[in-house]
Amino acid sequence: MTILVLAEHHDTQLDEATAKAVSAAGRMGGEIHVLVAGSGCRAAAEAAAGLAGVALVLLADAPSLSNRLAEPVAALVVGLASGYDAILAPSTTSGRNILPRVAALLDVMQISDVIAVDGPDLFQRPIYAGNVIQTVRSTDAKKVLTVRASSFPAASIAAAAAPIETVAIPEDPGRSTFVRSELSRSERPELAGARIVVSGGRALASAENFETVLAPLADTLGAAIGASRAAVDAGYVSNDLQVGQTGKIIAPDLYIACGISGAIQHLAGMKDSRVIVAINKDPDAPIFQVADYGLVADLFEAVPELHTAVAAE
Ligand code: FAD
Repeated sequence: MTILVLAEHHDTQLDEATAKAVSAAGRMGGEIHVLVAGSGCRAAAEAAAGLAGVALVLLADAPSLSNRLAEPVAALVVGLASGYDAILAPSTTSGRNILPRVAALLDVMQISDVIAVDGPDLFQRPIYAGNVIQTVRSTDAKKVLTVRASSFPAASIAAAAAPIETVAIPEDPGRSTFVRSELSRSERPELAGARIVVSGGRALASAENFETVLAPLADTLGAAIGASRAAVDAGYVSNDLQVGQTGKIIAPDLYIACGISGAIQHLAGMKDSRVIVAINKDPDAPIFQVADYGLVADLFEAVPELHTAVAAE
């Protein structure tokens, strides 16, 4: 079995999601190749070559691949597909954009958001907002899967780097053009990969309270800020901070939920966190059912007190 992993990267930097996808591929058994498609992306290819378990890195470096538009990257992957039994990508925005197109062009089923690999053709994935885990056996000759990076450990660094081979770039199908990207800049760690997340809900009641009540605790802990959809919909924070079924799915070492009720759609995004702390003034709030530590308290008193205690450490 030979598996192609589509790398997630920022040209000069390989994203950790790639190392996690490589470890998911490792559980299928067989030889792992990593495709790094981008523009000026040799540094990312070199980082991929250094991952344990990777036998070969394919480097596709061209201006047409610079923004990882689904059409040209899918054309590239489909062109390489005859040499592979499985094609796999992390379920990031790019992976979720590119792989369904690849699956459709190959006329096979895509298996999305895999959280466990039980064999070369047997996978587990969440359905119903994570309330049911479905086990899927694929009979397709070629498997196309996206894997949830937070469910797999990152592949370690190899003793010796794998070779890097340059591949030919197919003609750009020209169906889409890149216009611009608007990125929110923050000094805080990125929500998706943060070790600690301090999250706020509707109870925060304003954007200002996120900054004055939640942010000091987050910054002292070196944490990312997250939010419930109610807080995002109310305009307290931008929607890239939303945690949950329709936001980001994360599994930090520590998740501190402040004034969040714990609706199933929110739990779907954070319940795999290693340690969950909940602060809520309602003792019956559902968040306490998943919390390792629960504090029934008014967050406007408890969070500043927690901050003072942490800052004094
Ligand atoms: P609420 O449910 O209003 O809870 C506020 C909590 O704060 C309460 O438990 C209350 O006791 C507590 N509280 C109030 N004041 C204080 C105080 N002073 N101190 C301490 N505690 C206090 N939600 C998400 O979060 N992410 C998603 O991705 C998501 N996707 C969805 C997708 C669909 C299709 C649907 C239908 C819903 C989705 N939702 C999502 C919404 C979800 O159902 C809930 O409405 C939302 O999570 C509630 O947010 P909340 O907990 O902040 O607000």
